[in-house]
Amino acid sequence: MSWKNELAGRVRGRFREDELLSRHTTFRIGGPCDVFFEPKDVDDLVEAVNFLRNGRVPHIFVGQGSNLLFADSGYRGCVIRLGTGLRKSKLKGVRVEVGAGVLLHPLIRALVEKEMGGMESLVGIPGTIGGAIYMNAGAWGQSVSDKLHWVEVIDGSGEIRRVQKENIIFKYRWSLFQDLTEWVIISAGFEFDHAPASLLKDRIEEVNRKRKGVQPSDYPGAGSFFKNPKGNSAGALIDRAGLKGERVGGAVVSDIHANFIVNCGGATCSDVLTLSEKIQKEVMKKFRIRLEPEVRIIPPGK
Ligand SMILES: Cc1cc2nc3c(=O)[nH]c(=O)nc-3n(C[C@H](O)[C@H](O)[C@H](O)COP(=O)(O)OP(=O)(O)OC[C@H]3O[C@@H](n4cnc5c(N)ncnc54)[C@H](O)[C@@H]3O)c2cc1C
Repeated sequence: MSWKNELAGRVRGRFREDELLSRHTTFRIGGPCDVFFEPKDVDDLVEAVNFLRNGRVPHIFVGQGSNLLFADSGYRGCVIRLGTGLRKSKLKGVRVEVGAGVLLHPLIRALVEKEMGGMESLVGIPGTIGGAIYMNAGAWGQSVSDKLHWVEVIDGSGEIRRVQKENIIFKYRWSLFQDLTEWVIISAGFEFDHAPASLLKDRIEEVNRKRKGVQPSDYPGAGSFFKNPKGNSAGALIDRAGLKGERVGGAVVSDIHANFIVNCGGATCSDVLTLSEKIQKEVMKKFRIRLEPEVRIIPPGK
């Protein structure tokens, strides 16, 4: 029996073969994967992970696909999406437990209603809690790790384990989970600050206003393509290199924010990578600075 049939017989969540990954990334790019699986709950996820590991079947975990660029040839193996099956939240005073599939936007709205502050500046980031922790997502002075207390994972031996924040390293758009490639984040615990709802709502409006002014929203993309180099802004460097509006196929450097590569229609992964290499080359030539992608490219090094 093929691994696909065997997995299909073991799990309970949504299981699709040859699913186009362009349907599951905000870039709208990516070829088919062998299997696309959305676990029904944590037990279903554990079952799938242990099966795939034992059979040495390549697999990758995704949330909303808002920081991902998949190859045009897709992914050979199983893409596991942490979505509705991992969306339970529990509120106990200012302490909140959140499933990895919970989306940031509705979570922040709920926190505001309960007068809990500390994550409101992340409004507008279109990802899940799992993806945000993995990336240490942040905006306008706040990061997802600020109010974090612990993270629950399935570790490399298939066990569920709770890791306290002091044992996790977080840096700018980086968390230790990026090195622990076998681990999958299943939930997280936060402790927020009490703050009046009116103040949090004002803050959210301000952030939304700022975002609208500086970020393109008319074309698919994955947010900032490159990380900001120490003491510099990637967008400003790309702009000063004269690359706004630069195009390869359907991939274009946004006129609104030069660190946004957008899909203006029919862009392929190869278009985006050729354009990003051109940007890296020009910025290196002009400023002797190497830009590192923030977007996760799968498979790496493509
Ligand atoms: C319009 C737009 C604006 C954005 N603005 C911002 C911003 O202001 N700040 C910012 O930081 N980012 C921003 N982003 C990028 C992106 O939204 C964030 O990085 C987000 O946190 C990614 O979450 P996700 O669920 O979409 O993760 P995905 O894109 O699905 O995955 C990202 C990475 O996390 C891994 N991963 C996902 N879930 C898990 C899990 N449960 N366990 C283990 N690994 C996992 C994946 O394998 C992948 O390597 C923006 C993107 C867009 C499209």
